Amino acid sequence: MNRNQVLPQVELSADPKALSRIDFCAPQSYQGSGFLEIKALPRVAEEASSVEPGDGFHWEVETHFANSPGSEPQQILKLAVKGRIHLVCQSCLQDCGLDLAQESRFVIVTSEEEADAFPMEDDQQEPLVASQHFDLLGLIEDEILLSMPLIPKHPDGTCQPHASSFGEVDGAADTSEKPQNPFNILKNMKKN
Ligand SMILES: [Zn+2]
Repeated sequence: MNRNQVLPQVELSADPKALSRIDFCAPQSYQGSGFLEIKALPRVAEEASSVEPGDGFHWEVETHFANSPGSEPQQILKLAVKGRIHLVCQSCLQDCGLDLAQESRFVIVTSEEEADAFPMEDDQQEPLVASQHFDLLGLIEDEILLSMPLIPKHPDGTCQPHASSFGEVDGAADTSEKPQNPFNILKNMKKN
């Protein structure tokens, strides 16, 4: 039996409150997408160094039942997040706007035991324990947090001079810094 043909597909609401209570025990599949501002994502907001207009994350969710031989069809959840956040650059300690994206696939299981028994070597998908009030908003937040680099940084060479150094003797500091480039130093050492 292909349950996809008989089960209703429900459109997810983009409202953050509704997203935190999704019934994954119901015999239905879901699809939906939306945009979440940083302030709608409390744990992500804690990481943000500042919030600029346009910062936030698009999300896209789709679930379907996949037939697995010899057992009940498994509910598969695909989640994609994509967006922009400002984090503290670990080189210059100033705001750094980063574009992030993450796509994941999960298998919805019925119990903690089933989740514990899930093969660890399966790095294509992770188990999620079904609930009638599943916190999908929390899962979207987890994915955004996972997409963040451990050490956020501006792209090489694009760090801005420190704000407090503006107005100090200009130019001089910039030109005297260039020979400090470690690659140039290395090149010179090799020549000698
Ligand atoms: Zn920087």
